[in-house]
Amino acid sequence: TAAAVEELTTPPVQVNFTKLLINGQFVDSASGKTFPTLDPRTEEVIANVAEGDAEDINRAVAAARKAFDEGPWPKMSAYERSKIMLKFADLVEKHNDELAALETWDNGKPYLQAAQAEVPSFVRLFRYYAGWADKIHGLTIPADGPHHVQTLHEPIGVAGQIIPWNFPLLMFAWKVGPALACGNTIVLKTAEQTPLTALYVANLFHEAGLPPGVLNIVSGFGPTAGAALASHMDVDKLAFTGSTETGKTVLGLAAKSNLKPVTLELGGKSPFIICEDADIDHAVELAHFALFFNQGQCCCAGSRTYVHERVYDEFIEKAKARAMRRVVGDPFKKGVEQGPDDSEQFQKVLRYIRSGRDSSATLECGGDRFGSKGYFIQPTVFSNVKEDMLIAQDEIFGPVQCVFKFKDIGEVIKRANNTRYGLAAGVFTKNIDTANTLTRGLRAGTVWVNCYDVFDAGIPFGGYKMSGMGREKGIYSLSNYLQVKAVVTPLKNP
Ligand code: ADP
Repeated sequence: TAAAVEELTTPPVQVNFTKLLINGQFVDSASGKTFPTLDPRTEEVIANVAEGDAEDINRAVAAARKAFDEGPWPKMSAYERSKIMLKFADLVEKHNDELAALETWDNGKPYLQAAQAEVPSFVRLFRYYAGWADKIHGLTIPADGPHHVQTLHEPIGVAGQIIPWNFPLLMFAWKVGPALACGNTIVLKTAEQTPLTALYVANLFHEAGLPPGVLNIVSGFGPTAGAALASHMDVDKLAFTGSTETGKTVLGLAAKSNLKPVTLELGGKSPFIICEDADIDHAVELAHFALFFNQGQCCCAGSRTYVHERVYDEFIEKAKARAMRRVVGDPFKKGVEQGPDDSEQFQKVLRYIRSGRDSSATLECGGDRFGSKGYFIQPTVFSNVKEDMLIAQDEIFGPVQCVFKFKDIGEVIKRANNTRYGLAAGVFTKNIDTANTLTRGLRAGTVWVNCYDVFDAGIPFGGYKMSGMGREKGIYSLSNYLQVKAVVTPLKNP
């Protein structure tokens, strides 16, 4: 019903920051232009935000360059950097609820998800990387000749970072945390759909003592601000999260400009494999969570649910019942599991649903928009999905579960790997041998066994194949933001 959508809660937060952040100051864009950011619940404008383009990227990169070359950040003791990051984490924790409300308002995700999981996980990540700041160091290496050889692990310089709209705060943390721990300076380009929370936290970062110019934020669009950042000659490293198609574009821009190294976190079509020995009720719940979490807008969504033929019918019946029980509505209301999807994504997801309905897959439930206002989509389940269908191959990025039937483990490994993506996978079994065979056979950057979407700060995340290059989080992310310098000195009296 549409009733849940129409009675909306007023977000318990104000929008205080809408300008670009350059050199520690909130400023208008050079062109004076602004763009609206929308409430996906109502399609109404929340605020008009300064729209940065190439000229603003130039200003932001110049500020980041100066802060890197002359500023205290890369030169201050690692312990001092760590203390500022810890103080920032404390401030964010103090503003947990306002930040969660702003995230929900701009993005549409359930408020409790933002308040109880995402903001705390943001805080945890900054504390984790604050802990790394003074533990980054090189090696001394035995040389053949009479030489003293050491490596210095130095910050790489000005990092350009481009993030998407599905987890605005978490993507900020995954990018900014390791880059700052290593002593770099940053120009961050937020997604045009969700510019608000990055500006809010950046203000807190300056309150915590971050020097001006270390973190610059340019709101704006991909082909203008994003492309200018990716192709900037004075940006030393690029980190990008978004679609595979845009990933190829930014990698090309980096190559054509100054060959800045690039890390990419891109799309996925992750298999979730339920074996015949699985506890079905638990498997149904986890498979549901793996796909529908965050309105289905996760790059690692378990979007191909493979179910063993012996438990398939029972699974379908229960998965359908679970999807039909899913509570869709105002994400600020308690008990609501699913809010609106992204505005652009909305039409795209509905097109994929139509393509599924036109194929020989069986529509078990859902299959349309939810209500008549806002970008809400009915939780949708297709069974009898075959690999050659469009819904089986493309990343849908919405609340659409596709269920496939399989017979044996060797076969399901081949089918699960038969995709251009390789971001994540889920395996559900009680048998340790089956689990080991699957985890080693699947070509994916993460394999969750009997769980899904576990994202601790220390666990690396990234993709095989066209799901990306490099890893974020954990110790692995540090190398993205460091240069290794070998220093060789002759020994006079070896
Ligand atoms: P989606 O919106 O499907 O997640 P995109 O890859 O289009 O994926 O967007 C992710 C981020 O990339 C956003 O911040 C967007 O503005 C940016 N972006 C889009 N196109 C370009 C481009 N040509 N160059 C640089 N950045 C881009």
